[in-house]
Amino acid sequence: MEKETKKKSASESASSSSRTKKGAICSFCGRKLEPYEPAIKGVDGSILCMNCGELAHRYFLDLQAEFGGDAKSKQPEPELELKKPEEIKAFLDQYVIGQEAAKKILSVAVYNHYKRLNYMASHKDGQDTEIEKSNIIMVGPTGTGKTLLAKSIARLLKVPFCIADATVLTEAGYVGEDVETILSRLLQAADYDVKQTERGIVFIDEIDKIARKSSNPSITRDVSGEGVQQALLKLLEGTESLVPPKGGRKHPNADMVKINTRNILFIGSGSFDGIERHIASRLRMKEVGYRKNEERVDVSDSDSLLQYVAPQDLRAYGLIPELIGRFPVLTHLEALDKETLLNILVEPKNALVRQYKQLFAMDGVELEFDPAVYEFIVDKAIEFKLGARGLRSIMEAMMTDLMYTLPSSGLKSFRLDLAYAKEHLSKGVFDKLQNS
Ligand code: ADP
Repeated sequence: MEKETKKKSASESASSSSRTKKGAICSFCGRKLEPYEPAIKGVDGSILCMNCGELAHRYFLDLQAEFGGDAKSKQPEPELELKKPEEIKAFLDQYVIGQEAAKKILSVAVYNHYKRLNYMASHKDGQDTEIEKSNIIMVGPTGTGKTLLAKSIARLLKVPFCIADATVLTEAGYVGEDVETILSRLLQAADYDVKQTERGIVFIDEIDKIARKSSNPSITRDVSGEGVQQALLKLLEGTESLVPPKGGRKHPNADMVKINTRNILFIGSGSFDGIERHIASRLRMKEVGYRKNEERVDVSDSDSLLQYVAPQDLRAYGLIPELIGRFPVLTHLEALDKETLLNILVEPKNALVRQYKQLFAMDGVELEFDPAVYEFIVDKAIEFKLGARGLRSIMEAMMTDLMYTLPSSGLKSFRLDLAYAKEHLSKGVFDKLQNS
C-alpha cells in the first residue's frame, strides 16, 4: 500500500532539476555524483548528470542540423494566419504616424510574402508556379520610423524578428562579423526553434553604409562594402546556411545549425544621405532626354525628391545591381515635420506621453501635460536636429527629477506646465543630447 502511494506520487511529479543527495548515481553514465552536484531528476526517480545532459543537448542540435531543423517531428507546417493588406496597414497606423506610402507598400509586400509561404507549404513538389520573394528596401532619413515599421509588422505577424547592423559585417575571413551572424540572431529571437527562424523577418539597418566606396568595381578589395554586398546575395535569395547558434565567427569545432533562408523576409533600411542628388540628376536627364512636358517633375522641394527614388539611384549610390535585384520592393519614408512630431508624441498606442502617464499611474499619480509643453519639446527636437528619436531623450531629461521625487511625495496628481519644462531643460541638457 505504502509502495503504491509512493509510486503514484513519483509519477505525478514532473521531472525537475535539483541538487543531488550523497551517493546519487547518474542513471545514464553510472557515475557517482558529488554531494549537491546539479542534476535533473526524472519522474521515475532516474537521475541525469550535467555531463550527460550536455551530451544529449549536442545530440539534439546535431539532429536538428541534419533534418533541416525539424528533428522534433515531421508534422506539417501550421498555416500562417494571413492578414489582408488593409488590416496590416490599419495595425501599423496604431503605431506609426504618417509615412502612408511606406505603410501601404510594406503591407502589400508582407501580405504577398506570407501568402507565398502558405502557397509553398502546400505545393512542395515544385511543379507549380514559383512565387518569388519580396524583400523590401526602405530609404528615408534617420529617425523617421523605418525600424518601428519593421518591428510593428513582426509584432503583428508573431514571427521572430531581429535587427542586424550592416556596418559591423565584413566579408568572411576579415575582422568583423560574418553575414551568417545575422541568422544566429534570428535563431536566438526564435528561441532556437529552427522552423520559426526560417519564416522570420530580418531587418538590416544601415544598408547604405555597405555601398561601394568608389564607383569603379573593386580595384582594391572592399571587404566591408562590396565584399559584404556579395556575401549577402546568397542569404537574400535563399540558401542553406550553417549557423553557429551562439553567434560569433564560424569555428570548425562549434556546433552548427542548418538554416534555410528561402522564406526569411529581409527588410533593408538606410538613410542614403545625399541620394537626392542622384534622383535629381536622373529626373533632369529624363526631362532633357525626352522633352516630354507631362513627365516633368517639380524637383524644387528637395524633401519630396525621395518619393521618386528608383533602383537606378541605389545603384548610383553604390549598391551593386545583384543586391538591388534581390530587394524587389523599394519604398521611401518622409522627413518628419512639426505636426507629425507632435502627433508622434501623443497619438500612437505606445506614444511617449501615454507611456509616462502609465508609469506615474502605477504610483497612483495622475500626470497631466500642458499642451504648450508638447510644442516646446517638438520645437527643441527640431532646433537641435534630434528628430523623433530625440523626443524620448528630451522627455526623459525633463522628467528625471519628477520621477525621482513624485513617488514618495504623497501627491495624487501633477500638472506639468511650460515653466516646469523650461526650467528642467537647460541648454546644457541639449548640448549633451546632441553629442550623445
Ligand atoms: P529609423 O528610421 O532610423 O529606423 P526608428 O524607427 O528607430 O527610426 O525611430 C526612432 C523612434 O522615433 C521610434 O522608436 C519611435 O518612437 C519614433 N518614431 C519615428 N518615426 C515615427 C513615426 N513615423 N511614427 C511614430 N513614431 C515614430
